[in-house]
Amino acid sequence: MIYKRSSALFAEAQQVIPGGVNSPVRAFKAVGGDPIFVKEAKGAYLYDEDGNRLIDYINSWGPMILGHAYKPVVDAVVEKAQKGTSFGMPTQIETEIAQLAVKMVPGIDKIRFVNSGTEACMSAVRLARGFTGRDKIIKFAGCYHGHSDSFLIQAGSGAVTFGTPNSPGVTAGTAKDTLLAPYNNLTEVQKLFEANENEIAAIIIEPVAGNMGCIPPSEGFLEGLRELCDTHKTLLIFDEVMTGFRLAAGGVQELMGVQADIVTFGKVIGGGLPVGAFAARNEIMDYLAPVGPVYQAGTLSGNPLAMAAGLAMLKELDSDPQIFKRLEEKTEYLHKGMSKVLTENGVVHTINRLGSMISVHFAEKPVTDFASAANAATDTFKKFFHGMLAEGIYIAPSAYETWFITDALTYQDLDETINAVAKVAPGLK
Ligand SMILES: *Cc1c(COP(=O)(O)O)cnc(C)c1O
Repeated sequence: MIYKRSSALFAEAQQVIPGGVNSPVRAFKAVGGDPIFVKEAKGAYLYDEDGNRLIDYINSWGPMILGHAYKPVVDAVVEKAQKGTSFGMPTQIETEIAQLAVKMVPGIDKIRFVNSGTEACMSAVRLARGFTGRDKIIKFAGCYHGHSDSFLIQAGSGAVTFGTPNSPGVTAGTAKDTLLAPYNNLTEVQKLFEANENEIAAIIIEPVAGNMGCIPPSEGFLEGLRELCDTHKTLLIFDEVMTGFRLAAGGVQELMGVQADIVTFGKVIGGGLPVGAFAARNEIMDYLAPVGPVYQAGTLSGNPLAMAAGLAMLKELDSDPQIFKRLEEKTEYLHKGMSKVLTENGVVHTINRLGSMISVHFAEKPVTDFASAANAATDTFKKFFHGMLAEGIYIAPSAYETWFITDALTYQDLDETINAVAKVAPGLK
């Protein structure tokens, strides 16, 4: 494939945008080469500026669960846009999407909409601190909760890919309130509670991790966190920005039957427009301004175009629960197919999968936390990435990312992908 025009556009972008991108993971820094500039997308396919067609396994990093330019979503946005794009006043559609989200997600009474997953997680932690009157939070190494200061401590994917696990610009004062534990390790969490008695406001976690590749929680891990939180009167925050409305209509809470105190959303909930949200039971949500003392606001929050896209998306997911089953079946098919050809070619690998999230690690041992994810062979990943790209398959340009399966993928697309792996595999040994 030829990427002449993409490379020229990238050179131009770098003159006026830092690194030529508005979010670091889009650059190909970790795998080498220039990023691809997309012109348009439809269903499971991306069409780039050079006219190449790529099968897309990133899907805007999650939101396009039903495929690109999904008609009901596009129609809803176009219709709304003609009636004005922002008012800074209440609109009925905000209540409509809130009602639907509250119906779909277990254990929440109220939801507040913001503009990104970052904002949702940042606000959820402020709310937890206000509600409990405590300062500290526990996060897990390799989990990503957006780029606000408290979270840029061992923050997984983007941050790790670019070699800045702890970002300059985050003050020591902020960093000291973020306590760190390894994923899937209850003992270490227990120790943090013992060393910080009555000081921990919240545990924030990706209940199925997706920012160090896909890492599901081990048996009893989420239940154990729930128990520890109950014992220590600490709030449990599930960051479902990636998993919400993806792994089940009600997210990981529904899938695994563990109830969080606050849940955050992003990605799918906005149908591809900039939306985040956080939600909890009344007692907690009523701590927010204008009812309660914890301040949180947004000029464009609840934006009508964003709400129209999100509502159209949630309606589709709510009205066809089979979507999640179909997605899981497609992901399983891809898993088996890839695993078979990699094994046949003697390529050491571990594939993690849950629902429509899947990741390939070139590691021999199980990948269960950040340390084991970091042990995988990054050189092999680079070869794999560029080999797949040459075959017209677009996966994330980093070994620390999950692939996102969309319902628009056909079994023919999946076979094409497996065949591409078969072609690339002999060069990976
Ligand atoms: C993507 C992501 C975020 C950040 O969301 P943005 O919309 O990029 O700010 C937070 N948490 C998780 C788990 C994510 O995957």
